[in-house]
Amino acid sequence: MDLCNFSPSYVRAIAPYQPGKPIAELAREMDLAEEDIVKLASNENPLGASPRALAAMENVLMEVARYPDGNGFLLKTALAEKYGVELNQIVLGNGSNDVLEMAARAFLAPGTSAIYSQYAFAVYPLATQAVGARGIETPARDYGHDLTAMLEAINDDTRVIFIANPNNPTGTLLGAKELEHFLEQVPHTVLVVLDEAYTEYLPKDQSSDSIAWLKKFPNLVITRTFSKAYGLAGLRLGFALAHPQVADLLNRVRQPFNANSMAQAAAVAAMLDDAFLEECIDINDAGMKQVTDGFKRLGLEYIPSCANFVAVKVGNAAAVNHSLLKQGVIVRPVANYGMSEHLRVSIGLKAENTKFLQALEIALGESK
Ligand SMILES: *Cc1c(COP(=O)(O)O)cnc(C)c1O
Repeated sequence: MDLCNFSPSYVRAIAPYQPGKPIAELAREMDLAEEDIVKLASNENPLGASPRALAAMENVLMEVARYPDGNGFLLKTALAEKYGVELNQIVLGNGSNDVLEMAARAFLAPGTSAIYSQYAFAVYPLATQAVGARGIETPARDYGHDLTAMLEAINDDTRVIFIANPNNPTGTLLGAKELEHFLEQVPHTVLVVLDEAYTEYLPKDQSSDSIAWLKKFPNLVITRTFSKAYGLAGLRLGFALAHPQVADLLNRVRQPFNANSMAQAAAVAAMLDDAFLEECIDINDAGMKQVTDGFKRLGLEYIPSCANFVAVKVGNAAAVNHSLLKQGVIVRPVANYGMSEHLRVSIGLKAENTKFLQALEIALGESK
């Protein structure tokens, strides 16, 4: 169709994001019962959401005919208190994916460049390409970010650097010292987007006090999400913390009502339920040990992970994945990341992990 040729070439060149396969889709394709399927493909919380978050949603159910609070006052007030920032430093997003795109729209355009690492989260190249900017991918070191290479890649036209910590799909983590040292060396004219989608899973001694850095580095944007440890992926809610002037720019490219009313209410309640969050983290820690012990038993190499998923090297990942799907187990192939021998598996509940490991053992036998 001629019309489509008028879409900018950089838009037409975008390779669409590949989401994890929904349970209902696999059930249809393989003629399986939905309740027999285990989905460990999208780093979702296997415990679901806090009961307090669900109750809060019921309270706003009758108000869905009204637009949400476009400024998210109650949620921002709760976030400001929890993280010790001002309301004007917070930008709400329809998932943190949305705030990543806002950063791209506010700071990138054709003729500028953004830097991200090999094996880093797939949304960074997508967001960069969608606004016609040039993406610069720096080589990874041990599957993680090589900050020296990223510094060296900075050009006159570089406006944004994306960093995921921990990174998805590799689970690698940068330490506070190296990150702070990096921020000290990045020119103040380059925005650093520090994506901390999995930060809640980190033990205290491994996590960075990144929010304190906002005072020192006005070019820093921290992004967080309610999709992972808080178990609210379906509601789509994330946020950015930044210098007020940067936050103001992000808000200008934000859709007026991008954070919906159910999500706002649920998030406020979820943030107050520390006990639930702790339980989720404990289950994840135990599950991570169960799954990686299983890998060791099967003689498989994996990338040590600080998040709620782990990438394991299985050889012919496409064949192993196909066998897992036939057995009703959905994990995530990562060939689109250039990791054609790995599969990424989210940590589930004990019984889900057991089913995955059993299916994996069968799949490995079949793919030999
Ligand atoms: C899951 C994920 C996100 C956030 O997803 P949203 O659901 O849009 O908040 C952001 N960054 C990374 C690295 C992720 O893995």
